[in-house]
Amino acid sequence: MLGIGNNKNPEAKLGPLEFYGKMLDVEIVEAKIRNGYASIRNGKVVIRVPKRCNMRSKERMIKELYGKISKSLKKKPESFISNLPLRFYNGEKIAPNGEKLTIEVRDGAMRGSARVGNGRVIARLGSDGKDVSDLVSKALARHFKGYVTGYVNTWNKRFGSELGGIKVSRGLTVWGSCSPKNNITINLRLLFMDKKFLDYVVVHELSHTKVRSHSKRFWTLIGKYIPEYRNIRRELKVAGASISTEVLEQKQGTENLYANKPERESESENLEKKSAPAGEGQRTIFDFR
Ligand SMILES: [Zn+2]
Repeated sequence: MLGIGNNKNPEAKLGPLEFYGKMLDVEIVEAKIRNGYASIRNGKVVIRVPKRCNMRSKERMIKELYGKISKSLKKKPESFISNLPLRFYNGEKIAPNGEKLTIEVRDGAMRGSARVGNGRVIARLGSDGKDVSDLVSKALARHFKGYVTGYVNTWNKRFGSELGGIKVSRGLTVWGSCSPKNNITINLRLLFMDKKFLDYVVVHELSHTKVRSHSKRFWTLIGKYIPEYRNIRRELKVAGASISTEVLEQKQGTENLYANKPERESESENLEKKSAPAGEGQRTIFDFR
C-alpha cells in the first residue's frame, strides 16, 4: 500500500467511491507494470502504479487515476460490470450457450469442487471456503473450453493466424484478450449472452493477431467480418450488465456481497487502462473496449 504523500489529510482525497449504491474502498497497489491503471477488484477500487517510479510521479499518477475512475464510475458504471464475478445459487436454472442446467449445491466435501453433467452443475462445498459462484464458474469455464476453442478455430479459418492457447476465463475483467503469442482468452460471461456478442469478441481478438493496436486498420478489419460491429459494441456493455452479478444483487438489497476472495493476479487486466502494461511478458494483453 502507498500513501498519497505529504498532504496532511491524504485519505480525504482517496475516500470511498460509490458504485451502484455501494461505497467501495480505494486501495493503492505497487506492481511491476509500466503504466498505472484503476479497476474494481473484489469489491474495492484498486489503483495500480508502477513500482519503479519516483514518489512524486506515483502521487501524481494516483491522483489522476483516482479522478478518472471516480468520473467513470459516476458516468458509465455499466462499463465496470465485466469486472465483477458471476453469481450462482442452489436451485438456479441457467442456460449458458443454450444448454439447460440446474445448479445443485451439496456440502460435506473435503475440498470444494463442481462438475457439469446430465443437465446439472453439482457443486460440493468443502472446508476450504470456496463459494458456490466460484466453483460453478470454474466448472462452466472448463465445460465450455472445447466449445469455445472450436468456435475460435472456426473463425480463425478466415484469418489463418497461428494461435497459442485458447482459454475461457471466469474472472476476466475484459470481454476477451489476445496476448503477443496469440493466446486468446474469452470471458465466460459471453456464453450467457446473445451469440452475436461472442462472434464480435472472437473476431475482435482474432483481428489483434493481425493488427495489435485499435487503429483504423484494425476496425476496418473487424468491419469486413462484422459490418454492424459498431452497434454490437455499444450494446455489449448494456447486455453484459443484465447478467447476475454481485452488483445487481446489491441493488436488490440482499446479503453481503463483497466477500473477501484472494486476488487472482493473472486475471487483473482491466477496462480502464488504455494500453496493455508492458513488461509483464506473457500477461500483456490487448484490452477490449
Ligand atoms: Zn482490442
